[in-house]
Amino acid sequence: MGAYEAFYRRSIEEPDAFWAEEAKRIYWHKAPEVICDYSRPPFVKWFKGGETNLCYNAVDRHAAERPNDTALITVSTETNEEKRYTFAELQREVERMAAIYLSLGVRKGDRVLIYMPMIPEAAFAMLAAVRIGAIHSVVFGGFASASLATRIDDAQPKIMVTADAGMRNGKAVPYKHLVDEACALAKTPPEKVVIVDRGLDKGFPRIEGRDLDYATLRAQHLDASVPVAWVESTHPSYILYTSGTTGKPKGVQRDTGGYAVALAASMDYIFCGKAGETMFATSDIGWVVGHSYIIYGPLLAGMATILYEGTPLRPDPGIWWRMVEQYRVTVMFSAPTAIRVLKKQDPKYLKCADLSSLKHLFLAGEPLDETTHRWIHEALGKPVIDNYWQTETGWPMLAICRGIEEKPIKYGSPGFPVYGYNLKIFREDGTECGPNEKGIVGVLPPLPPGCLSSVWGDEARFISSYFSLFKEPLVYSSADWGIKDEAGYHFILGRTDDVINVAGHRLGTREIEEAVQSHTAIAEVAVVGVHDEVKGQLPVAFAVVKDPTLVETTQARQKLEAEVKQKVDELLGAIARPHRVYFVSGLPKTRSGKMLRRSIQALAEGRDTGDLTTIEDRSALDQIAEALKTQ
Ligand code: ATP
Ligand code: MG
Repeated sequence: MGAYEAFYRRSIEEPDAFWAEEAKRIYWHKAPEVICDYSRPPFVKWFKGGETNLCYNAVDRHAAERPNDTALITVSTETNEEKRYTFAELQREVERMAAIYLSLGVRKGDRVLIYMPMIPEAAFAMLAAVRIGAIHSVVFGGFASASLATRIDDAQPKIMVTADAGMRNGKAVPYKHLVDEACALAKTPPEKVVIVDRGLDKGFPRIEGRDLDYATLRAQHLDASVPVAWVESTHPSYILYTSGTTGKPKGVQRDTGGYAVALAASMDYIFCGKAGETMFATSDIGWVVGHSYIIYGPLLAGMATILYEGTPLRPDPGIWWRMVEQYRVTVMFSAPTAIRVLKKQDPKYLKCADLSSLKHLFLAGEPLDETTHRWIHEALGKPVIDNYWQTETGWPMLAICRGIEEKPIKYGSPGFPVYGYNLKIFREDGTECGPNEKGIVGVLPPLPPGCLSSVWGDEARFISSYFSLFKEPLVYSSADWGIKDEAGYHFILGRTDDVINVAGHRLGTREIEEAVQSHTAIAEVAVVGVHDEVKGQLPVAFAVVKDPTLVETTQARQKLEAEVKQKVDELLGAIARPHRVYFVSGLPKTRSGKMLRRSIQALAEGRDTGDLTTIEDRSALDQIAEALKTQ
C-alpha cells in the first residue's frame, strides 16, 4: 500500500482518531468533547463541545508569534495601488472593524452581508464578523440588485458593508448604487450600511440615518481592542450562496471548528503551503475559493495572501506571472477558464517572469480538459494540480495530495478521493460502479469536517437537495458525472443535468468538449444537447478559435467544422459527433467563470434564456444567436 492510500484508509476507517489528530492544528479555547457526533444523519457535528474562533486562529495567533510577517497584500491593477499588512496590522484593522460592528449593535449570530470589491476592507469585514461570532454572507460584488435582494431576504442581515464602487477593465462599477436598489427591492433590508468610500463614484447619494462612512467610523475606533468571542465548534461562521449555475442558489451554512481544522490540514496536505510563504488565489472573495483559499486557508497556515483586483489580461497577459515573481508566490490557485483565456495569448507572456518560487499551480471550478492541462503544465514547467470540489464542501474532494505522496499527475484528472471523503461513483440504482464505468459522484456520509452543516434556514432543503439521490444507501450527491480508471484516477464528466441523450446514449457534455478541444485550432468550446424529433437530442458545439482568421470565410468555417467533427468521430465515435459546430469569439459564463450551458441550449432550441442575473457578458449570448442565424 502506498503512503497516500494508507493515509486515506485511516481517515475513512478511523475518522475519530484521524480528525482528533488534525484538530491539534488549531487553537481550542475549550477542547472538543466528541470528535464526530453523527447521531442525527445526515447532519453531523464535528468537534462538539469544543470552543474556538476562526479569526483568532487566522490572525491573532500569528500576530502574537510573528507580528511583522506579511499577512495580506492587496494589488489593484485597476487603480494601480498596492497595500501590505503584517499580521499585527491586520489584527488592528480587524479589531477596528469589529468595534464598528459592535457599536452598530451586531451581536453573536447576527448576519453581516458583505458586498465588496477586492480591497483590504473586504478581508477586515469578514474576519471582524467571525471575531465577534457574527455570521458573514459575502455576495459577489457584481451581482445585479435583484440577485443581491434575494440573498438579503434569505440571510436577513443586521448590517451591510459595501464600497462606493469597484473597478473592472478600467471602468468604475457602482456598488453602492446597486445596494440602494437591492435594499429597495428587499423585504428585510439591513438597518445600517457601512460604505468604504474609495472616491471612485463621486457624490453618490447617502441615505440619512442608514448610510455610514467607514473612514469616519474607523477614526472613532482607532484604539479599539475587541476580544475574540469564543464560539462553539458548530457555531455558523458564514453563509455562502452557490454559484447558481443550475438554478436557484442555495445558502451553504458553514461551521467554525470543523472548517478551521479542514482548511488547516488542506493547506499542508493538498496545497503544500508553509508559514511565511505567499499564496495567490486569483478568485474573488464572493466565491468559495475566495473564502477558503484567499482568506481563511492561507491565514490559518500563517501565510501571506494576495487579494487581487483586476483581470488576467491588464495591463497585459503577463501580469499574474510578474506578481508571482514580485511576491515570491509559492502556491497559486486559479480556474481552467482563466487558463483558457491565457492560452489564446502570445506564449511569450508566460516566459517573461521568474517563476522559481512557485511550487504548484492548482486549478478548480470546471473540468480541466487534457489539452489545457498539458499546455499550462508545459508552459509553466510546474506541476498543475486539478482539484474538484464545491461551495458545499468548502475544500477539495478530489485532488492529488502532494503533501503526503507525490503521485504522478494524469492530464484531465483531478486524481483521487481526498482523505475524509468516502467518495464513490454510483450507478443509478445505488450500487457502486466498476472501473471505467460512468456514474454519479457521491460521498457516503458523514461528510468530513469543513463541509456544509446545513442549508441556511432550511434543514429540509439540505436533505432534499443533497441526500435524496437514492433511497438506499444514504449518499451525499454532488450531481456530477464521474468515472474512475483502473489506476484509481477520477475524471469528472460534467453535471448530471448537462447530459446529452442521443438515441438513448447518454453523453456527458465534457466528453464531447474534450474531443473538440483536442483539435489544435480550438481554444474553448461549449457543447449542448438540442432537441431532435428523431434522436431525442443532438450535440451542438459553439467553439472559440485561437486565431480568428481561421474562420473568416464560409469556406474556412466549413473546413474547420468538418475537421472538428472528424476529430470527435475518431475519439468518441459518430454517435457523439456534433450536428453543427458554430464559431464565436466568446462564450457566456457565470461571474464565477462557469459555462452557462442552459442558456446556450435555450437559444439553440429557440427558447427564452431564463434567469441571466449571474452572467458575465451578455454580448456572448447575442453572438450565439447571431451564429445560429448566419452560419
Ligand atoms: P449551483 O450548485 O448553484 O448550480 P455550481 O455548482 O456551479 O452552482 P459551485 O459550488 O461554485 O457552484 O461549483 C461546483 C461545481 O463545479 C461542481 O459540482 C462541478 O460541477 C464543477 N467543478 C468544480 N471543480 C471541478 C473540477 N476540478 N473538475 C470538474 N468540475 C468541477
Ligand atoms: Mg452545484
